[in-house]
Amino acid sequence: MSHSKLASIFNKDEKRVDWHDKALWFVRHKRDLSVHNVKGWEELRNLGHGIKAHMLSNLDNYLIQFEENAKKNGVQVHWAADADEHNKIVLQILKENNAKKIVKSKSMLTEECHLNPCLEADGIEVIDTDLGERIVQLAKETPSHIVLPAIHKNRHEVDELFQEHLGTKPCDGDPQYLTGEARKHLRTKFIQADAALTGVNFAVADTGGFVVCTNEGNADMGAHLAPVHIASMGVEKIIPKQEHLGVFLRLLARSATGQPITTYSSHFKKPRKGVKMHIVIVDNGRSEQLSRPDFRASLHCIRCGACMNTCPIYRRSGGHSYDATIPGPIGSILSPGKDLTKHSTLPFASTLCGSCSDVCPVKIDIHSQLYKWRQIITKETPQPFVKKQAMKAMGNIFAHPNRFETVGKIARWSLRNLPKAMINSKPNVWGHTRDLPLGPEKSFDQWFKDRENDKKS
Ligand code: SF4
Repeated sequence: MSHSKLASIFNKDEKRVDWHDKALWFVRHKRDLSVHNVKGWEELRNLGHGIKAHMLSNLDNYLIQFEENAKKNGVQVHWAADADEHNKIVLQILKENNAKKIVKSKSMLTEECHLNPCLEADGIEVIDTDLGERIVQLAKETPSHIVLPAIHKNRHEVDELFQEHLGTKPCDGDPQYLTGEARKHLRTKFIQADAALTGVNFAVADTGGFVVCTNEGNADMGAHLAPVHIASMGVEKIIPKQEHLGVFLRLLARSATGQPITTYSSHFKKPRKGVKMHIVIVDNGRSEQLSRPDFRASLHCIRCGACMNTCPIYRRSGGHSYDATIPGPIGSILSPGKDLTKHSTLPFASTLCGSCSDVCPVKIDIHSQLYKWRQIITKETPQPFVKKQAMKAMGNIFAHPNRFETVGKIARWSLRNLPKAMINSKPNVWGHTRDLPLGPEKSFDQWFKDRENDKKS
């Protein structure tokens, strides 16, 4: 289904749209306050951008260096070309270790690979341990945001879900009670787990170590209690040196939630005595994206979610309307690279206001890339007849100043004089949910000329 159709489902609940919008704007505001406190924030962003660009240009070398060092540390390294291979490798490791219960900390890569259903089909219990992820897992939904996976749910819905699945008492959505119950429930799962699966935020080539960032400590709880730790990472998670971590950890937390640092930045390097550690390095379309000069910078992404929090379209259409693992502006660049036909509407789900590029901590030119996808999609996929004709007509008008002036005159007159029922008629999709303003007497051009003449006189 197209983004606009899915968005219209979300938009039916106006109250939800309002608090979704406000909740994300609150996070964006926190981000602003936090970054304005950092002297040299722009230099930090430039540095992050530069390190990522250098890494992508030397990706093969850094990946090999990382593998060598990780192996020296006693970690078993696996390579997966795609999602299917990733899932098979994880399943194989679990089988070899007779693991029937696993705890997972938030990993968008395993979401991308649809790991949970694959493991569950083999009789393995998979528990997502990030609170937001656990909520959406109980609701049999997917995350709607990469940092705040259950941001589309209110506390009363969580209350009902917990009553149904965890046997909690009705509490009128009391967050403290609900969090306490979730903690008790998850602790049992951590203790029972045969294996822990985590994502990887940054993998350091020169040490073979990696860092996982969480605010709940759930990655640590899983990895420190279970006898097997599997870490799944996309190839682009590599950074060259340990000293670069400081740059990215500062950029990530502030951009994601406005925190100076994520509560838990857990460094993993070698397995503890008696514990096995595996790393699965996954491509799954990333090399192909790297080969597209216009879009390769999208691989700089450190998954902070800031572009989603600021995007007026994401905030008002909800993450599920993107029908993709990574929603929002960056997802709308990544998804068409995977399936152009399925995701052809996503690059159009943007006002191209550029706010996403402004907040991106690693300076990805998000709105320019969205614009580039639009040009490709318009050429390569069939467009609706009405849209094609309308665009042709608009092109024609914009190319001829006289025509533009005449059409402007007619439009202004119509907005002032025609009855509302005619203006907000069926073909005018803008008028379905909003009133158009009264047309001004003068065009902007005329107003500007008059103003200049007034100044002279
Ligand atoms: S594109 Fe930039 S702002 Fe968006 S999630 Fe990635 S790093 Fe954050």
